[in-house]
Amino acid sequence: MSHSPLPPSDDVAANLAEVRARIGTAAEQVGRDPRGVTLVAVSKVQPVEKLRAALVAGQRVFGENRVQEAKAKWTDLKADYPDVELHLIGPLQTNKVKEAVALFDVIQTVDRPKLAQALAAECRKQNRWPQFFVEVNTGEEPQKAGIPPAEVGAFLAACKADYGIPVSGLMCIPPAEEEAALHFALLADLARRHFVPGLSMGMSGDYEVAVRLGASHVRVGTSIFGARQTQPAEG
Ligand SMILES: *Cc1c(COP(=O)(O)O)cnc(C)c1O
Repeated sequence: MSHSPLPPSDDVAANLAEVRARIGTAAEQVGRDPRGVTLVAVSKVQPVEKLRAALVAGQRVFGENRVQEAKAKWTDLKADYPDVELHLIGPLQTNKVKEAVALFDVIQTVDRPKLAQALAAECRKQNRWPQFFVEVNTGEEPQKAGIPPAEVGAFLAACKADYGIPVSGLMCIPPAEEEAALHFALLADLARRHFVPGLSMGMSGDYEVAVRLGASHVRVGTSIFGARQTQPAEG
């Protein structure tokens, strides 16, 4: 279950400060260094003015869930802010792998062998190696992407030995109607057992919980930019 503690204001800089402060408090509650948590500002569907406001406020790490939309919005912005770090947090089709490898610094949604193979081949071709996170379907929902928890070990081994892509993290999107903390704890346990350092979990409604359970990356959209005007399409 998720809740938004406060509706975000129109002031992106103030919202960012609030989210950063809450991450700091949550980290301190469990004796973590807040600098160990990367805030990924999820800018999908948001207008470029809001992205610019976040950039002016010092935010540099952003998440998008569609390759085409990200390319359209970020090509110019990246020219102005070369130190921006872009994360792909939505499903990736193999026919978009070329553009994804060229654009993104972190691809958080590696969720099947065919995609891992295609990414490895494309990285070699471009000689550009983003970081890769494996998406885990912690709720084992049939309609949702991700590796089932029981298969994570075998998939990580195959990424290393067969496909040749280094995996630096795990990510999950818990079922909307369930207690997120249970899924975050499961993901953290998988990461520990398989010696994967990165842990991407937590959205606007539950990022503080995720930080307390060890998240290295939280993906926050609505609490920073306000409600999205339209639902993003697949791809
Ligand atoms: C949209 C999205 C988010 C951000 O969700 P908010 O509730 O707006 O913070 C985080 N992760 C993924 C994978 C998303 O698609």
